Amino acid sequence: MKERINEWLEQHREELLADLADLVAYESVAVPTDGTYPYGQAVAACLDATLALGEKFGMATRNFGYQAGTVELTDGEPTLGILGHLDVVPAPASGWTTPPFTLDIRDGRAYGRGAIDDKGPTLAVLYAMRAIKELGLPMAHNVRLIVGCCEEIGGADMVYYQQQQAFPPMLFTPDGNFPVINIEKGRLPSAFSATVPTDTLPRVKRLDAGSVINAVPAEATAVLCGYTADEVESALAACAFDGVRYELTDGEEAVLTAYGAAAHGSTPDKGCNALTALLAVVSRLRGAHEPLRALSRLFPHGDTAGVAAGIACADTISGALTASLDTCHLAESGELIAEMDCRFPVSETVEGLAAALRCQVEAEGLDCRSDGVPPHYVDSNGAFVQTLLRVYEEQTGQKGECLAIGGGTYVHDTENGVAFGPEFPDEEYNMHAPDEFIPIDALLRCAAIYAHAILALCGEE
Ligand SMILES: [Zn+2]
Repeated sequence: MKERINEWLEQHREELLADLADLVAYESVAVPTDGTYPYGQAVAACLDATLALGEKFGMATRNFGYQAGTVELTDGEPTLGILGHLDVVPAPASGWTTPPFTLDIRDGRAYGRGAIDDKGPTLAVLYAMRAIKELGLPMAHNVRLIVGCCEEIGGADMVYYQQQQAFPPMLFTPDGNFPVINIEKGRLPSAFSATVPTDTLPRVKRLDAGSVINAVPAEATAVLCGYTADEVESALAACAFDGVRYELTDGEEAVLTAYGAAAHGSTPDKGCNALTALLAVVSRLRGAHEPLRALSRLFPHGDTAGVAAGIACADTISGALTASLDTCHLAESGELIAEMDCRFPVSETVEGLAAALRCQVEAEGLDCRSDGVPPHYVDSNGAFVQTLLRVYEEQTGQKGECLAIGGGTYVHDTENGVAFGPEFPDEEYNMHAPDEFIPIDALLRCAAIYAHAILALCGEE
């Protein structure tokens, strides 16, 4: 019967895509909200739709205050939990070939916000469970799909969930990479602030870049007051970076926009930071905006390893530290606040790096505030991880091995969770960027891998 899983999934390809189109249509960006829907109506509606699918497939579901929901494969306490999420990062329409919240199938791919992160993979899990159920494959233990509602803004959903219910002893999330991620770097998200004088001319009146700390900004804008066109042009000429394009409007208040390329904040070298490019230009203009120059000295364009910020480091199991200045806002009042995403290797500590960073940042005259999350590490030799690796090898013919990454996945704060897919090695899916997609074959392959993993871990022998 096991052999029939992949055939069953192939027969349900169109239905799976139709359900994915339904879920993608919810503009489920989590927005903290008072009242019944803690992350807004769109996220709540998307959760309702997902749980309704579970019910339709004959599985028991539960809604945890619209923070999270669960779908049970069978009865009893589960030994395996699978943790996906329904919220997505914002998708400004610019840069997309087709509207981000309308699933578009072209060239064997399904394009839409959430296609790869994480609606597609979550649905692949639900279809894996459905395949097992409809094929009547006997289970020795229950499996629980847990869907969260605010992964992209910090995961308070799972804090709430765990107050109601513990995670099962085995846990994976389809919200990372294949084969298996068992090491996740620590995080040191930090904010820098200062006040810029507002009573002088010429001056930088406003500056805006980035909306979330974990995405490299593709666009950054400054409003420049009282500069001559020549002054700005000569600053621009000195900042001709690869992959950066500038636009400048005329006038007493000129608007200067830098365009780069978005990327996930944990892999800043895959993008091109429009903010650091803009700061490089602005730093060259005269005026009292010393804090902006300080930011540019701490984060010179192209430095994604925290060298100038004084925190560069690396180790062999988890690689090098990454640092990315991802948001910056200078208000007309002169208030300046900027945020850095930083991921550090398992050999370092939150305390040590936070102290080194603060020292460097305060020396530049900026206030510095850091939060920290220690690194995450699960034994690669345990039976659970070894089973996942074996299933991956059987289903793909590729070598199954553990990975260390900089991006904290959804299981970072859990005791024993690992990430298992959905991204296959050496493939790019535009996650968190315009034209996010999942190849349809990859979506089905994910579902097959998840179904076989469920059977290997919880099926009857
Ligand atoms: Zn995700």
